[in-house]
Amino acid sequence: MNKPHDIVILGAGLTGLTLAHKLKDSGKSVLLLEKEEKPGGVIDTHREDGFIYELGPNTGVVKYDEVAELFDELKEYCKPYIPDESVKKRYIWKNDRWEKLPSGLKEGIKTPLFSWKDKFRILGEPFRKPGKNPKETLDNMVRRRMGESFLNYAVDPFILGVYAGDPSMIVPKYALPKLYYLEQDYGSFIGGAIKKKFEKKDEMEKKATKDVFSIQGGLKNLIMALYKSTGKSKFLFNVKGLQVKPEANHFQLEFHHQDKNVKIQANRVVSTAGAYEIPAIFPFLNDEEINDISNLQYAKVVQAAVGFKNWEAPYPEGFGGLVPHIENRDILGALFMSSFLPERAPDGGQLFSIFMGGIRREEMYEKSDQELTGILEKEMKQMFGLNQFHPDLLKFNRYQYAIPQYGKESGKRFETITNIENQYKGLVIAGNLKGGIGMADRIKQASDIAKTLKTQL
Ligand SMILES: Cc1cc2nc3c(=O)[nH]c(=O)nc-3n(C[C@H](O)[C@H](O)[C@H](O)COP(=O)(O)OP(=O)(O)OC[C@H]3O[C@@H](n4cnc5c(N)ncnc54)[C@H](O)[C@@H]3O)c2cc1C
Repeated sequence: MNKPHDIVILGAGLTGLTLAHKLKDSGKSVLLLEKEEKPGGVIDTHREDGFIYELGPNTGVVKYDEVAELFDELKEYCKPYIPDESVKKRYIWKNDRWEKLPSGLKEGIKTPLFSWKDKFRILGEPFRKPGKNPKETLDNMVRRRMGESFLNYAVDPFILGVYAGDPSMIVPKYALPKLYYLEQDYGSFIGGAIKKKFEKKDEMEKKATKDVFSIQGGLKNLIMALYKSTGKSKFLFNVKGLQVKPEANHFQLEFHHQDKNVKIQANRVVSTAGAYEIPAIFPFLNDEEINDISNLQYAKVVQAAVGFKNWEAPYPEGFGGLVPHIENRDILGALFMSSFLPERAPDGGQLFSIFMGGIRREEMYEKSDQELTGILEKEMKQMFGLNQFHPDLLKFNRYQYAIPQYGKESGKRFETITNIENQYKGLVIAGNLKGGIGMADRIKQASDIAKTLKTQL
């Protein structure tokens, strides 16, 4: 058997690719094993008939300096696209029309989204005591600090947009730690946000912004940039039935590849696979450990790319609109892709990304294309003033394991993962089962792991 690889990374999604790219100059032998035939994981850009559309994630946020740093490192391979201020225009569906989400005090006072009672109540938010229960769910936290109408028409649609989730399942300490610690450290969301704005930032912190990003030509170009910069020879695709076993000083990995059973050894193994893959990959974990990790629930999501070459109805400008659960409609939200990204639709046309399903509407995942088309026709006619529904582009993608829901059990999951990593030195269990669910979180996690591995080997 050949010499063990220094590091084997499981999965070539954004996390695995970023990690491999970060390790490329470390002088260590790195191998990336991927079960599909191409890199990218859920990132899925297509080009067709004048449209560039995404069937996975659409945009990210430059939330950490690691994101800006990665774009800088990849500048010879791909270019990020940061849309102009118009993306700050976001809409919420209420009483059969889109209402603009307020972005300042004046708009906040006038908006019909929130009740007058809650508008007055919010004045007292900085003076309310912080919560004491670290496992408090988001709905309770928002009711306690801000009121029911803020929960229904601001926080619920936000959670639909990010998690396809339900605020009564999401625990802020794990899912929205920045928000949780605003309350814990500063005593209030409003007061904390204001104080943080005036805190001194170093050069690295200044790079972390709230800017929305995409990549010129689509997110696939980020994937290809990472793939090329890492070096194609470091990847093995179509790896099936992968199992990892700890041995005395290293790990043994067994899998099928091109009709052969392959065995390799590694000093370090980093998994970036979803929680639902963990039992098969690590058969040596005990039942309790497996349960603590694989009980993580994922929202099922259907994404539709809907394009029109000649758009004749009024077009709401801005980033997109979200549909609160309380409104009882059949879509979660729509991104107005061609409104804020160039070249996404032919001139005079429009492209929408529409999400359906989520944790409270899982039945959408089971619907046929024909049924989904009927739903889109009904919703788009009403929401966007269409007389007829004849899109020139209509594509669906169904995700059984789209977005992990960081609920009450998350603390136990994180603890179990740490215990496993302490017990089996050299094993890292990463991916979106911890460390955040957005693309920026994935880039940050991979960058942090790379830094640690470089110091260890
Ligand atoms: C529909 C959808 C919309 C989203 N929208 C947004 C958005 O707008 N903004 C945002 O920031 N984030 C969004 N996200 C989240 C974001 O896309 C993900 O957090 C990120 O892309 C996940 O990257 P990853 O590498 O951690 O996981 P993945 O992309 O899931 O990659 C994991 C890889 O591991 C491989 N793998 C799994 N098991 C094995 C195995 N046994 N052997 C070998 N390989 C294996 C998989 O095939 C896959 O390639 C969205 C996600 C989905 C699904």
